Amino acid sequence: MIEHDSLYIGGQWLRPAENGVITVVSPADEQTIGAVPLATATDVDHAVAAAGAAFRGTWPRLTPGERADVLERLADELAKNRDERAALTSRQNGMPIAIAASAEGDSPVGLLRYYAALARATPLEERRPRLDGNGETLVRKEPVGVVAAIVPWNFPQALTMFKLAPALAAGCTVVLKPAPETTVDALELAAACERVGLPAGVLNVVTGGADVGEYLVSHPGVHKVAFTGSTAAGRRIGEVCGRLLRPVTLELGGKSAAIVLDDADLAATVRGLATSSLLNSGQTCYLSTRILAPRTRYAEVVDAVAGLAGSLTVGDPLSPDTLVGPMVSRRQRDRVESYIAAGKAGGATVATGGGRPAQDRGWYVQPTVFANVDNDARIAREEIFGPVLAVIPYGDIDEAVGIANDSDYGLGGTIWTSDVDRGVELARRVETGSIGVNFYGLDVGAPFGGVKASGIGRELGPEGLAAYHHLKSIYLPA
Ligand code: NAD
Repeated sequence: MIEHDSLYIGGQWLRPAENGVITVVSPADEQTIGAVPLATATDVDHAVAAAGAAFRGTWPRLTPGERADVLERLADELAKNRDERAALTSRQNGMPIAIAASAEGDSPVGLLRYYAALARATPLEERRPRLDGNGETLVRKEPVGVVAAIVPWNFPQALTMFKLAPALAAGCTVVLKPAPETTVDALELAAACERVGLPAGVLNVVTGGADVGEYLVSHPGVHKVAFTGSTAAGRRIGEVCGRLLRPVTLELGGKSAAIVLDDADLAATVRGLATSSLLNSGQTCYLSTRILAPRTRYAEVVDAVAGLAGSLTVGDPLSPDTLVGPMVSRRQRDRVESYIAAGKAGGATVATGGGRPAQDRGWYVQPTVFANVDNDARIAREEIFGPVLAVIPYGDIDEAVGIANDSDYGLGGTIWTSDVDRGVELARRVETGSIGVNFYGLDVGAPFGGVKASGIGRELGPEGLAAYHHLKSIYLPA
């Protein structure tokens, strides 16, 4: 059993103001596997006050190199228990362990090392000659202040570090609110921060759901909000931050397109789609869940994609052979099943799946591929967040681009072709924040984020660090 009874606030482990508890339930067998404390508004007040005090303390005044030293110590600390941390995510959210090992085990370590190196290499002050010729202006980068970081359950440790590593590197202090489904890893992260001597109040962890998150977002002591989650919650947070004129980064949902060109090597394409369209049992924001296939090869593409989905090993997330685990919660499984029902009711053809696999416990759904899908259908327009793909036919390239761009979202995407130059040319025409040719893979050194309803702002790369800096111009006398 996983038991935690305290929140991490101001460098101390404190019991929450009330006795609320979040029950941790295994998605793989529906058994209770632990309990963690539920924070209240009073706890959020304490956490924001602690982060504010830490921001007035030494942390933002250390040199970037001194902060980088702490980030590197934290990276070393997290590297020690990479396998345990990966398993912790799998146990909480059902992520197949083979994916968790790199996505949750390794990537937080890599992010810390990247932002430590970037902090050392990024000058905070620059003197520019004035354009009127009368002397210079000193342009300074300053940390924005107290950051409210709110993350979802699908890649909890990685997405936390997308925010924490650059925020700390910039000199900000943080109040982290993990998703209720994946709270334990956030408390373990706080313990690791404590072990490496991160000053008190620089990271604080409060727990809870949307109400606790909403209270944090609008708290007067917060200077910036960094949110990853659903578009619905992101809109709400954007409204609140707009009213408060509070900087906000929103990493939201997606419904990205895989454009399979007529010259694509289909065997290589489906090998790539296994991750770029179905990673983490379909519970990944950037997945290419609309497969756009040329009419001339439509039946062939449907067969290949259905063959892929039907061949994936579904089962215990802690088994190294598993490629598709359970949905994170009963609610999420019900949601995915409601979309499968909508697809059937809307006249699309089930090419594979469409039901529940053999497991008698756990929130599993069969990897499902729909053929003969119109881009106006609900299953083509709305984010399902499960292992459900829609194969949509197109005539020529212009029509393919039109369908890809006919979406409320714009987060990821892929092009599959034997002519990489042709793929890059097409990638330029797709309205999206990132897109891969013959594969999809985040690059920690390059900006990641969405256009349209997929979000505002960017994480990763130098742009991800810039999101935690304010700019100040000091006009120097000639
Ligand atoms: P969610 O929006 O329900 O919850 C995300 C987090 O926000 C949780 O911690 C939740 O407690 C909190 N929250 C919810 N409503 C809130 C509110 N009004 N104010 C403040 N906090 C609030 O999303 P989810 O179901 O946990 O995650 C899945 C979603 O996240 C999908 O839509 C997925 O596409 C998206 N996502 C996006 C990215 C990206 O980088 N663009 C990455 C991963 C996941």
